[in-house]
This record gives sequence, structure tokens and C-alpha cells, in this order.
Amino acid sequence: MAKVTVKIPTPLRSFAGGAGELPVEGDTVGALVHRVAELHPGLKRHLFTPEGRLRNFVTLYLNDKDVRYLDRDKTPVKDGDVVAIVPAIAGGARSSAPSRAAGPTGPGVPASSASLSTDDLLRYSRHILLPEVGLAGQKRLREAKVLIVGAGGLGSPTSMYLAAAGVGEIGLVDFDAVDLSNLQRQVLYTTPDVGRPKLTVAKERLEALNPGVRVVAHEERLSSENAFDVLRPYHVIVDGTDNFPTRYLVNDASVLLGKPNVYGSVYRFEGQVSVFDAKRGPCYRCLYPEPPPPDLVPSCAEAGVLGVLPGLVGMLQATETVKLLLGVGEPLIGRLVLYDALTLTFRELHLQKNPECVICSPTATQKTLIDYPAFCGVPTPGATPSGPKVPEITPEALEAELGSGEPPLLLDVREPEEWALGHLPGAQLIPKGELLEHVDELTRAREVVLYCRSGSRSGQSARQLLTLGFTNVKSLKGGINAWSDAIDPTIPKY
Ligand SMILES: [Zn+2]
Repeated sequence: MAKVTVKIPTPLRSFAGGAGELPVEGDTVGALVHRVAELHPGLKRHLFTPEGRLRNFVTLYLNDKDVRYLDRDKTPVKDGDVVAIVPAIAGGARSSAPSRAAGPTGPGVPASSASLSTDDLLRYSRHILLPEVGLAGQKRLREAKVLIVGAGGLGSPTSMYLAAAGVGEIGLVDFDAVDLSNLQRQVLYTTPDVGRPKLTVAKERLEALNPGVRVVAHEERLSSENAFDVLRPYHVIVDGTDNFPTRYLVNDASVLLGKPNVYGSVYRFEGQVSVFDAKRGPCYRCLYPEPPPPDLVPSCAEAGVLGVLPGLVGMLQATETVKLLLGVGEPLIGRLVLYDALTLTFRELHLQKNPECVICSPTATQKTLIDYPAFCGVPTPGATPSGPKVPEITPEALEAELGSGEPPLLLDVREPEEWALGHLPGAQLIPKGELLEHVDELTRAREVVLYCRSGSRSGQSARQLLTLGFTNVKSLKGGINAWSDAIDPTIPKY
């Protein structure tokens, strides 16, 4: 049998004893992955369906080739090969001819004859000195319109560098206010901005950086209803989102409108970057036809992210955007760059267009936008999730119960790092992903109250317990953050 290295991605490492790679022996890719699941049974439900099929949001690469375009799980391996498990994160051969530059006009940016002012000649002098940019390129940037979806960790560096570069119109989509926990990575904002609408601050900051840039604020949630109208005026779309429903929405709307989508995503210490341009290469759905179930992949708010990571990933997105607009170099079309900050390594995987892609192939069946929260299995705001209804308890009522003669069993379903930030007195820590393993230790006779950061994970965990026959289960409404607001402000919110 061949001796092969299997690379385990960060989200799954806790199920593999913390290992980033495992030496495994086997003859085929399928045998290796089954062997990995045997060695670490906790990985099994993440990799395989209950019927034993490999889950289709898990992509396997043999060296740098997607095994879907080799012999799938029967693809043979030899000594020294590297098999990488590449899951979708709140994320083949280079197409036979090498990717061509966009050409002199870029993605539909009109050429401009109007000259640059004396100030602009000075402001952009280091660009104009580059033969690949020159006066013509700088004027093209001035005519360009770029939409950045998400004014957060990725949108901050992207928008600042695009404004500095002289991209004439920058659209931003976001509806949040600046939160203190944003400042560790969202460098658009400063401490006095906390509480102000992000787009108000971003517009001021970007226009101060470069008054020649027009910043258009789309202060709304991007949805299937408004996506075409919001995206249509722009030449390039930058995906700086942090959730799967918006990511699939941005992809599908970009494909249907024929616009390039500059993709970036971050998770803990790892980033992904690519350019999806369905006219010239694969789209996000070619890589990940379906999203992972919502409870398998935690968000950055739950899992954490190294503050400088989105800085680097966002700058790679800005680089690709400028190249697309100028039509220079070799765009990241058909290639996925994986960046690991802990080892400071970049790996490049070759992506292929999926001949059966539902949105971008010649046989595409999806011709319009769909219900993305439903597609991703997350409840639409206001909709009732499936399964038993979970009773909630307010912080005030919980405080009263804890002081009574029969206090409930208090379960904290967050991660140990969150527990270390602060927790409720008398609580027991069982992270959500480990709840099922510990379910036998819980007595069904006593009332169980679960809590997390904001009430979402505890609601899902409470529903699991109700499904398993527990009857007296509640979830703390608003989580520990609500407890901090209502009962004990010494417990830090985050
Ligand atoms: Zn596709």
C-alpha cells in the first residue's frame, strides 16, 4: 500500500486530535479517506453522509488535482502523494489554454479620453510610471465601478486600496453598525466610530483618502429581490461576505449578470482567494455545488479569526480587481489560492469548470436567483426553523430559577476559548459539537437550560435534546450577551 499524507483542514482538526496532516496508507483516495475516518471516528459525520457517501461540500484534491476530474474515490495513489480535504469555508488543470489577460478594455470598462488633472498626475505618478498602467490605465481605473459586498474584515483593506488606486466608483453593501469587536481587523473604522453605521464611516474615510472617488452606500441586506439592481451598474464584484447564503447569492447573481466575482474567505488562520468569472472559467458553485449544513461550519464570530488574516486576503482581492480592470497579468481565474498564516504558506489548486454546474454550465438548470437562506439551511429572519419549538428563557427568569430551591442544570455550549472570556456561575461546559457524545451524562429529570453567545447555537442544541426525548429544556434568549446586559455587566460581551 502507498504511504500518503492526508491534509486535514483547520475546521476539522479538532476531530483529528489537532493534527494538520496524517500519514495514512492505502491504494486509492477513497480508501485513504475511509482510513482517516476509522482512525478518527469524530471526523466520520463531517466527511460522510449517514449512507456512507462522501459529503458533496467536501472536495478532495490529489496533489493539486480535483479528484472529481480524475477517477473520483477510485483514483489510485502512490508513495509520497498528498491528499487534501478542502471543505467549503464562510468560503483540475489550468483550463487547457493558459488564462488570458482580460485584454485592453478589461471587463467592460469604457476607455476615457478626458485628461487627468495636475494633482491627479502627481497622486497617481507611481502608477503612471508603470508601463502596465500608464496614463491610459489610470484613466481606465477612473472610469471603473467596483462593488464590494460586506464592509468588514475583507471589505476594509479592499475598499481602502481600491480608493487609493483611483477606482472611480466604489459601491459598498452593508447594514451593520461599528462594534468594538470589529476593530481587531476592520481597519476602516476607529474607536470613536463604535456605534455609528459602517457605511457612513466608510464613505467619510474613503472620500478623505481620495476625494476623486465616488463612494455609493447600499445600506441594506443583499437579497434575491435586490441583488440584480445592486450589482448591475458595476464592472467587478468583490465578495467580502461572511456567510454562505450571501456568498451563493453573490456568485449566482454575478454569473447571471456575466460579471467577474473576486472571492475571498477567512477562517481562523486560513484564507482562500479566487476569481470566479463564468465566461472564462469556473464559478463558486463549480467548486462547492452545495453549502455545508449550518451546524457543521462555525462562523468567525464563533470560531475566531486572526486579525491580520483578512488584511492579506482582502489585499489579494484588491490586487486581482485592479488587474481585471486594467486587463494586465494573469488573473486568478481557474485557480484557488489557499493561505495558511500559521506556516506562512500559499498553495495553489487548479479549478475546473464543472460541466454539470447548475448555474454556469451550458446545461444549467437554474436561470434565476433562489431562496438562499433555505438553500443553505439557515432560517430566514422571522421564519420558524424545522423541528420541535424550543422554549426560551429570559435572563431575568433564569436568574430567579437559579436562586430557587430547584435550580436548573446550566449548560454552556460554546467553545472553551469563549468560556475562558467569561461564563455564568454554576454552568457546565459542553461545546455544541460534543453534546451528543455527552448526552447520556445528562439527567432527563432535571430542567436543562442551555446558553451560548447570542442564543443561536443553544437553540439548535436544545432542539437536538428535545428530538432525543428530553422534555424540560430551555435556551437562554439572547445568550450570555443578553445576560451581561440585563443581569451582570462584569461578564464581558463579545
Ligand atoms: Zn459553475
